Amino acid sequence: MVDEAVLATLRRVFGFGALRPAQAPVVEQVLQGGDAFVLMPTGGGKSLCYQLPALVRGGTALVISPLIALMQDQVEGLRMQGVAAAYLNSSLSPDEDRRVYEDLMTGRLQLLYVAPERLFAGDGALLQQLDRVALSLVAVDEAHCVSQWGHDFRPEYLDLGQIKERWPDVPLLALTATADALTRQDILRQLRLEHAPTFLSSFDRPNLHYAVRPKRGWKDGLHGFLEARRNESGIIYCMSRRSTDELAEDLRAAGFIAESYHAGLPSAVRAARQGAFLRDEIRIIVATIAFGMGIDKSNVRFVVHADLPKNLEGYYQETGRAGRDGEPSDVLMFGGGGDFARLSPMCEVPGNEEQSAMLLNKLRRMVDYAESPTCRRKLLLNYFGEDAPDTCGNCDNCLDQRPTFDATTEAQKLLSTVARLHTPFGLSYCVDILRGSQAERIAAAHKSLSVFGVGMEHPKATWLALGKELIQRGYLDQELGRFPVLRLNDRSWAVLRGHERVELTQITAPAPTASSARTETTGPDAHPGLFEALRSLRKQLADERGVPAYVVVPDNSLRELAAYRPADADDLLRITGFGEMKVEQFGPAFLDLIATGCDTWGLERNMPPGRTAPKRSRASRGPSRTVRTTFEKWQAGASITGIAEARGIAPRTVESHLVEAAEHGLVAPRELLSAAEWDALIPIWKAQPGAGLRQIHDATAGRFSYFAIRLTRLGARSGTGVSEVPE
Ligand code: ADP
Ligand code: ZN
Repeated sequence: MVDEAVLATLRRVFGFGALRPAQAPVVEQVLQGGDAFVLMPTGGGKSLCYQLPALVRGGTALVISPLIALMQDQVEGLRMQGVAAAYLNSSLSPDEDRRVYEDLMTGRLQLLYVAPERLFAGDGALLQQLDRVALSLVAVDEAHCVSQWGHDFRPEYLDLGQIKERWPDVPLLALTATADALTRQDILRQLRLEHAPTFLSSFDRPNLHYAVRPKRGWKDGLHGFLEARRNESGIIYCMSRRSTDELAEDLRAAGFIAESYHAGLPSAVRAARQGAFLRDEIRIIVATIAFGMGIDKSNVRFVVHADLPKNLEGYYQETGRAGRDGEPSDVLMFGGGGDFARLSPMCEVPGNEEQSAMLLNKLRRMVDYAESPTCRRKLLLNYFGEDAPDTCGNCDNCLDQRPTFDATTEAQKLLSTVARLHTPFGLSYCVDILRGSQAERIAAAHKSLSVFGVGMEHPKATWLALGKELIQRGYLDQELGRFPVLRLNDRSWAVLRGHERVELTQITAPAPTASSARTETTGPDAHPGLFEALRSLRKQLADERGVPAYVVVPDNSLRELAAYRPADADDLLRITGFGEMKVEQFGPAFLDLIATGCDTWGLERNMPPGRTAPKRSRASRGPSRTVRTTFEKWQAGASITGIAEARGIAPRTVESHLVEAAEHGLVAPRELLSAAEWDALIPIWKAQPGAGLRQIHDATAGRFSYFAIRLTRLGARSGTGVSEVPE
């Protein structure tokens, strides 16, 4: 068992509530001082297997990694979490290099990343320095590079055989995502790890949705696929350099932010494009297989193969770059048996019949995969020697059996709602109108629309799913940006005029894939609009700091934020990915946006008392302990900034606490504001009772704080403001 103190570090630094089942035994082994060989698929969470023990054991951990870009990313990410991490590689200036050395010698570094050639460079000066440091552990990442049997052999890795002899008592971990049985044995032998236990986790990537489509008409298919994912990052693999350039050009012409990437480009161009992709400035990279080895981008949402790959090993590895954060992601391939004739000559190894036959055989298996009508996941896992159930519920073959139904009437109802609301609104608002919601946020004028209440036949969730599918299928546009409002397009009008029939997936019966089966987290659904808004905020925060977006927080944190909608720093600490440092740095910005979003879409806070317990609405609880503490200080006469300083929280959080105190009736909203604020805002709320916070904020040209706007809305609604407004 991994003990409480370790879990506390996991929580505090990384913001994770638990170790994954495959991580726990490795962490335990290393904490006990043992060696380990860790085989985990990409995205499985290998880094934590050494990062967490490194922090807990104390001293300095040495991490050997072949890829400079990857090293820099990891170190940046760790520093943002408050960990003392550094790297030594050829990209550093002599000055920077010296500083890292100093930190190493004074024992300040918790993790030091080095490339293998650097570790053994010159006369072994670095090794001698390391002899004088208290090493907590040594981790060899991408350990398959040590084997000539692997697909990515690096001669410098052979020197790593010295490590176990040099530091026999320091735990040594070897980690890799790809290795067949032969390569595994070779890795253990080369690293002198023969006696170390192997930790093997399943190669299943349940969050990846696998699909194959025929090559004919593939460009249209691709455009449609990308259109539905405009806001997301992905990689498209092509066979040749020329086709990557051409496809990238073609996509740019269609308005996508796409660039090509292949070994024929100057290295500066490649580095620039890779960097821009990491920062989400380029959405789509169209690449040969040269791209990806060094990519540790956790939020790649799709990987497309425009051509049939040569074997399933390569295919598995390339598709594995999607969805490393565990969030649902798409893997799509265009191709089939027709590609066999074109590709088979490439399997010819002159003068080596045996190897040619082996390669040809691998290509055949690839074609089998493409042409199979059965579960793709099962095929892949069986190929890698793993058992799997007959159906996975998350590949095209398993899902295509889902019935569809004629949804023309439903589509018309939803589209005419959008048409009748003269200003654009989000999906949830439109659905509330369809469902005849009496919620306060629905403007009175909208309650008298002819479409009001015409959609009672489906529950809200069904309507939301229908709406999403309409957007995905291009019957309705959703505007990008902070608040994704709906707009009609030509196809919407065709449906409204009865010129086009709409066929949608049957969703009234429970879909065969519960989202819980696809991701490890279960819980309420993320609000799509809020999720998008949070994502653009994250991008902005990342840009301000010059780091990739997922270094700020991973996509699954955004998903939880959009589902649970935390109200304060304490809530936030319970969200995946928010350790103490992250809450301090980014908490106020995220909390603020969530407050605005909740208001815009009329969402309730949704934090469960414990992560798995059923949710209770805030109104049915009393104010939380932290709200009470803030409120007591305020009652005792402290100012907002004073409370913030005393409690070590952001002034905005204090404000949120006070609003919450007012909502619970601990204090009248009026008492928290100046007379000027009150008198100016109450009449505005009276005139527009259904308006959103942001609307009022914009309408008053930003003269009033959200704090004042929220409190006056409360006042106007609870009636305390009414008497001051002449009727
Ligand atoms: P790998 O190196 O095996 O490809 P990473 O170490 O990059 O995988 O981890 C993949 C993703 O999983 C990262 O986004 C990481 O933050 C997340 N992750 C790792 N461990 C956990 C955990 N215990 N709980 C939640 N998320 C985790
Ligand atoms: Zn399947």
